[in-house]
Amino acid sequence: MVIIRGATTVDADDKEEIRRSVRELLEQIENVNQLKRDEIVSIVFSSTSDIHSYYPAKAAREAGFAGCSLFSAMEPEIEGGLPLCIRAMLFVEKNLVPRHVYLRGAKVLRKDITSIINVAIDGPAGSGKSTVAKRIAHEMNILYLDTGAMYRACALKALAEGADIENETALQDIFRTMKLDIAYENGVQKTILDGRDVSEEIRLPHVSMAASTVSKHPSVRVHMVEKQREIAQKMSCVLDGRDIGTFVLPDADFKFFLTASPEVRAKRRYDELVAGGHEVDFEALKADIVRRDEQDMKRDFAPLKQAEDAILIDTSDMTVDEVVALVKRKMQEKI
Ligand code: C5P
Repeated sequence: MVIIRGATTVDADDKEEIRRSVRELLEQIENVNQLKRDEIVSIVFSSTSDIHSYYPAKAAREAGFAGCSLFSAMEPEIEGGLPLCIRAMLFVEKNLVPRHVYLRGAKVLRKDITSIINVAIDGPAGSGKSTVAKRIAHEMNILYLDTGAMYRACALKALAEGADIENETALQDIFRTMKLDIAYENGVQKTILDGRDVSEEIRLPHVSMAASTVSKHPSVRVHMVEKQREIAQKMSCVLDGRDIGTFVLPDADFKFFLTASPEVRAKRRYDELVAGGHEVDFEALKADIVRRDEQDMKRDFAPLKQAEDAILIDTSDMTVDEVVALVKRKMQEKI
């Protein structure tokens, strides 16, 4: 059982205003928590003593929340308390990280829990971080930011220009004129390079290796990290990468470091590529992954490293569902 809280204020002690506000609050709570109505077991309301015109519980029943038990109570009058306020507590039968909703004047009540949430998921290639990050973002109804895609796009550009990817100065010239956009289509991240959707192309193995080389240059990283921080400051998101918990967002609310044996990681990438119709040599792919990890771990600037306060999860023998459930449980424990 999970408890979700919410509150809103009404403009006036008026029946229609109370009905509208209660409906708005409950629908928002449903949306941001991706709730189905039959997952709500009970809703308890309390309203400030300046509200007399209508019972919030009755308004909830009329708004279609009739399948759960509903209850309203009046709060004592507290000097200096927020006027015309309705609070709700939902008891929900679902395994989720609750997102509490504070609307209108009630936003001032809990700035701490309505603020932006950032989840950092780092780890080596094939550790399962992007699959897990996508699932968590979807369930929390927040953005998923694949930071690897940004370095991959840089690599694709450098390769297309025939640049020496070891040469930082040469790359700087190329990247100065490059236009990299991250867009979202039906909730799926699209990587747009110079106006072209390169989301598929950047997944090819030769681009992976080049991304690792390109991303070791500090000037490239600084530029990308700036973009990543800008997005994370504006909205709640799950970011996956190598340095999110250590460098991009050292104050992230939740930090995870996923890992798995090289064999398992190579097999996951192999299956992905084969499913995408690509011909791949498993041993070569595995060698590439090991080489890439080494390069990512050994670079001087923001290397691949577990943050001290990140939770380590070895996904070698776990299913995606198990990893997602564990991540969610750890997040709930921290709330
Ligand atoms: O995660 P993905 O395999 O798409 O990343 C490709 C490469 O981009 C990594 O091997 C790594 O070198 C680089 N990268 C990085 N920092 C990030 C994300 C990716 O250095 N935050």
